[in-house]
Amino acid sequence: FLPHLVASMEGVEQTYIMIKPDGVQRGLVGEIISRFERKGFKLTGLKLFQCPKELAEEHYKDLQSKPFFPKLIDYITSGPVVCMAWEGVGVVASARKLIGATNPLNAEPGTIRGDLAVQTGRNVVHGSDSPDNGKREIALWFKEGELCSWEAVQGPWLVE
Ligand code: GDP
Ligand code: MG
Repeated sequence: FLPHLVASMEGVEQTYIMIKPDGVQRGLVGEIISRFERKGFKLTGLKLFQCPKELAEEHYKDLQSKPFFPKLIDYITSGPVVCMAWEGVGVVASARKLIGATNPLNAEPGTIRGDLAVQTGRNVVHGSDSPDNGKREIALWFKEGELCSWEAVQGPWLVE
């Protein structure tokens, strides 16, 4: 390790990624976490969690008026989810690319939804859509002591 190399903090963001109940039930937890790890992002929060109805409604409040909203709340609360906070340069947009389009039918092969899902209502994973929502959602799903700030040794090998 070359100690004079220090990774710049420029463009570092946080995003909230969640493996939905179908991803847990189908045994895809390791596969999905692995994709974000391999890309080079840093895990700063991780837990298996049974989401209460109220939290699901708050998380998806922008979709309240949609006809599928009740089904969406049933889906998200139907079993445990894996809640994650990830950090990195451009992580919000980059994670959305790794995840792929909302409808797995339109998600490119190579993306999580393109490779591992078939229908919008069972699209295995959530990712924040903006840095502001990343912060909002991490604060919503995690308590302060549950997050961990740490220095990854690979930092300067990923970011100049
Ligand atoms: P995302 O940001 O790609 O997850 O997509 P949205 O923010 O638009 O929607 C949030 C989630 O609601 C999606 O990931 C789906 O789980 C669900 N959803 C969105 N549109 C539909 C729909 O037309 N039908 C059903 N059943 N679920 C939907
Ligand atoms: Mg969304």
